[in-house]
Amino acid sequence: MLEIDIDRKRYADRGGSPHVALSGLNLQVGDGEFACVVGPSGCGKSTLLNVVGGLDGDVEGRVRLDGEAPGNGVGFMFQEPRLMPWLSVLDNVLLVAGRSAAAKARAVDLLVAMELGDVLQAYPGRLSGGMQRRVALARAFVIEPKLLLMDEPFVSLDVPTANRLRAMLVELWQRCRSTVLFVTHDLREALALGDRVCFLSGAPGRVVLDLAVTLPRPRA
Ligand code: ADP
Ligand code: ADP
Repeated sequence: MLEIDIDRKRYADRGGSPHVALSGLNLQVGDGEFACVVGPSGCGKSTLLNVVGGLDGDVEGRVRLDGEAPGNGVGFMFQEPRLMPWLSVLDNVLLVAGRSAAAKARAVDLLVAMELGDVLQAYPGRLSGGMQRRVALARAFVIEPKLLLMDEPFVSLDVPTANRLRAMLVELWQRCRSTVLFVTHDLREALALGDRVCFLSGAPGRVVLDLAVTLPRPRA
């Protein structure tokens, strides 16, 4: 169980006065649940993920994953694929998976399943945006993370490419049963993917509506 209790998250703005990005944000996500968080630009979605993932620890409140601070079992996927351009596709995934024979076998299997078997040794700069996202998805799932944090990972892709990636994400999630916290400004995407959609309202960010979703998910 992921338990998020953020009393307040402040940033010092350039004028020196503190800006409250999140306030009174409480959210619990069950094991294996796919929770989407939607809200307009600037409402605090990325801040929420950064706080949950420990990328931004300066917060009043606390985040617990199975009663402990989230640690190594957390995977991330951001708006940009953030692949290392000087490493091959396979080495980008091994950077997270580790270099044991078992890790390498797992990484190769996953990349092949994602139809990247022909580009294992290619550098990311040679790949299309959709392929780079597939590598980033493989990298996120290769450790079968207990918790996966996703920040608009399919933004600025064309509709068929984004739909294919959404179907692949659903398949990986159903196999790994990771708990997913997925933020997006796209309500349609949230409804397509989530078991649950939490609406954030900004200034400061807090949950204003929390809905269970029972729609069929996208398939490949
Ligand atoms: P969203 O992801 O929903 O677009 P963000 O979490 O990026 O929103 O931002 C929430 C608010 O916090 C915004 O007002 C933004 O300007 C502010 N903010 C985000 N990051 C920083 C930062 N590093 N320093 C100062 N203010 C920030
Ligand atoms: P239409 O306007 O006929 O629905 P689109 O090209 O916008 O056609 O979308 C085709 C299909 O792709 C839709 O039926 C929907 O299932 C899916 N889709 C499109 N955009 C999104 C989105 N942002 N999030 C989730 N699914 C989407």
